[in-house]
Amino acid sequence: MPAIDVAGEFETIRRLFAPLAHPEWGRELRDDVAVLPGRPGHDLVLTKDAIVEGVHFLPTDPLDTVAQKLLRVNLSDLAAKGAEPFGYLLACGWSERCGWPERQLFVEGLARDQKTFGVSLLGGDTVVTPGPATFSATLMGWTPRGRTVGRAGARPGDLVFVTGFIGDGWLGLQAAQEKLALAPERLAALVDHYRAPTPRLTFSEVIRETATASLDVSDGLIADLGHIAEASEVGLDIDLEVTPLSPAGQAWFSTRVDEEAALVRLATGGDDYEIAFTAPARDEAVLRREAERRHIWLTCIGRVTEGRGVTVRHAGKPVEIASPGFSHR
Ligand code: ADP
Ligand code: MG
Repeated sequence: MPAIDVAGEFETIRRLFAPLAHPEWGRELRDDVAVLPGRPGHDLVLTKDAIVEGVHFLPTDPLDTVAQKLLRVNLSDLAAKGAEPFGYLLACGWSERCGWPERQLFVEGLARDQKTFGVSLLGGDTVVTPGPATFSATLMGWTPRGRTVGRAGARPGDLVFVTGFIGDGWLGLQAAQEKLALAPERLAALVDHYRAPTPRLTFSEVIRETATASLDVSDGLIADLGHIAEASEVGLDIDLEVTPLSPAGQAWFSTRVDEEAALVRLATGGDDYEIAFTAPARDEAVLRREAERRHIWLTCIGRVTEGRGVTVRHAGKPVEIASPGFSHR
């Protein structure tokens, strides 16, 4: 795609993005690169997610929450790895609807979350597209050397945990599309979650200290647990009936006739941005204490076995799952 006209691109970078740049490393966005010193004794952890209008956010979503979602889905990856975020690179593909006020709103969302999560802008690229608006960010963080938590370390005997609640991402999308009949305050909470989920950065240090394998729940709990099972070459036995539901999730669940189908729907829906991880059973008490101190809901949803793949049970019986989560073509 062509770069946008020089005045527009230049104005956008100077007036909107430069104030967000890291005071030293970003070079006021006047150079071709950002330059930052390495942090002794640490590994640099990088992650990138792209979000596309009509796929990851709705054409009607306000652009400040789109910017927040962009940062948060990436921050969620760093949180799950036990990394401490510090900066990001940003690519903006503005669509027709992104005039100056929309760009300002986008930058307001970035500014809010930079403050909340302690990250700053290091550089990026700015283009326009005749297609749907598309944004991508590369987030960067540090972990003490060799301490990044991967997907491959789960061991038979470990327990499987998840932070927060499962299903609010999928329910939030339904709510944003006005497909749900719930009390207005429940719908509002779900839409907020869909538009700007909370990355579990306050739990990241605990993950680093205890988790044997960890990832964030973006595609659907069952699909994402499948990634841990595969990488770790273990089986995961998951109890569907203990799936943690938010107050809004419980309100929706209570309207369902088929409980098993409803739980499968929530556990395969995606966009939750909670952390699913495995940890040795002996660490359960420490985990519960640390979660409580941080006001994070923590649920043990199963255990790691000598088997292969994810086995889901409901009321003791194995459940057939046709589609464990979301996948792009
Ligand atoms: P180049 O000529 O190398 O493509 P650009 O004109 O695209 O450089 O960018 C000039 C400066 O502005 C660079 O420092 C770049 O990182 C920064 N920049 C451009 N777009 C963005 C953006 N969306 N967010 C942050 N920084 C940006
Ligand atoms: Mg460029």
